[in-house]
Amino acid sequence: MSASDSRVYDVCVVGAGMIGSAAARHASGTAGTRVCLVGPGEPKDRMSRTIFGAHYDEGRITRALDPDPTWALLAQRSIRRYRDLERKTGINFFNDVGFLVIGSPDGDYVRSVRENARRHDVTVQTLSRAQTRKTFPFLEIGEGMVALLDSRNCGHVSPRRLVAALQTAAHLQGCDVVDDVVASVERHPASWARAAGATLAVRTETGRVIHAKRVLLATGAFTAFRRLLPPSLRPDVRLNGQTVALVEISESDADRLQRMPSMIYRHPADVGRWFYILPPIRYPDGKFYLKIGHGSRWEALLHTEEEVRDWYRSGGNPEAVRVMAEELLALLPGVKPVSVHGDACVTVKTPTEQLYVDMVTPSLGVALGGNGYAAKSCDEIGRMAAKMILKGRWDHDLPRDQFGIRWAESQPKSKL
Ligand SMILES: Cc1cc2nc3c(=O)[nH]c(=O)nc-3n(C[C@H](O)[C@H](O)[C@H](O)COP(=O)(O)OP(=O)(O)OC[C@H]3O[C@@H](n4cnc5c(N)ncnc54)[C@H](O)[C@@H]3O)c2cc1C
Repeated sequence: MSASDSRVYDVCVVGAGMIGSAAARHASGTAGTRVCLVGPGEPKDRMSRTIFGAHYDEGRITRALDPDPTWALLAQRSIRRYRDLERKTGINFFNDVGFLVIGSPDGDYVRSVRENARRHDVTVQTLSRAQTRKTFPFLEIGEGMVALLDSRNCGHVSPRRLVAALQTAAHLQGCDVVDDVVASVERHPASWARAAGATLAVRTETGRVIHAKRVLLATGAFTAFRRLLPPSLRPDVRLNGQTVALVEISESDADRLQRMPSMIYRHPADVGRWFYILPPIRYPDGKFYLKIGHGSRWEALLHTEEEVRDWYRSGGNPEAVRVMAEELLALLPGVKPVSVHGDACVTVKTPTEQLYVDMVTPSLGVALGGNGYAAKSCDEIGRMAAKMILKGRWDHDLPRDQFGIRWAESQPKSKL
């Protein structure tokens, strides 16, 4: 696409991350629809970029068992389509290694997972400490704990490869994928474009102008920055800096842990000891890493674009990395770490703990607020957002009210 391209898109999706790429795939699957997806790819060096995505990693837990029925449904529908997407694109991203919840048998979390499994007809096996050791000889879950094992259609996805698959599928359906950062979205100033139906002009940092009838913002943590939304509108979200510890292990340890599932660990007596753990995954540097992340304990509240940028560049909280690596190695006593390092990422939390998928004006929509859960479910979220932006109104079987955007404070009416 050249800077002077005059084609008019039915839909321009801004943000080529997990939700935006899925929205582009579903929008472009509608016959006769011209779709463009614009957003920067992952930078090789984070110092060279100021905009980042929450998908720069190789492991995200995927499971149908979520205590919240809406998130559970979004996950189930997405998981059902994984293999088909892999076949269509030739990109494998799903590892169905299973999912294990470790906690107290009387604790709320274990109880809610059991109830949820019953509600969704998912078979989970309850393993005592001894049974866990027998099933997973490398795992030591601790006195008085149980493990709930879901072994079907769950495990982990590679968010990088899932994004690549979604974009490939979109491209195969005729979607133009543009690697650029959007500087502004504004009411189209040119009469020729408006006469051709283009209500909005999407201007990029390199000087491109994309003409669109409707625009969907799927820009994650960066939605309130730049001039993407009408002046002074700011979504009511918390931007939480997250830290993960990546523990490098040897090929022989990775081999020994081959059957390790993705896990969530909840200590019964200490709410701060809530961790999620990914089994050995080979990263692009060719090495195997185990990954552990935390619940709310070390979340860093971020406000400005500079704070989000600096967090992404920081490598996370070193104290969190140290403690999490220790917790991980206590669960896997025979593992000898080769090295440990941290990484930083940002989650977008809404006060409702649900997504915001909503129209802001008749031609501008948003899909954001992953709340730390959206990787596994991005395909159905993208489908929901695509259906909405194509029609300019809600068009999904889940109730619209659940996904309505809330603004940070009362705002003037938009002129878009
Ligand atoms: C540490 C961590 C662990 C997680 N673990 C899990 C897990 O185990 N399971 C799970 O399901 N979920 C998990 N998540 C959550 C999941 O990764 C996110 O919910 C998901 O990535 C959100 O998707 P998104 O499309 O909203 O945002 P992103 O994936 O961040 O995509 C937003 C995109 O918008 C682009 N963008 C921003 N501004 C602009 C602009 N001005 N112009 C153009 N493009 C722009 C960015 O470049 C980015 O590509 C985790 C998140 C973190 C941080």
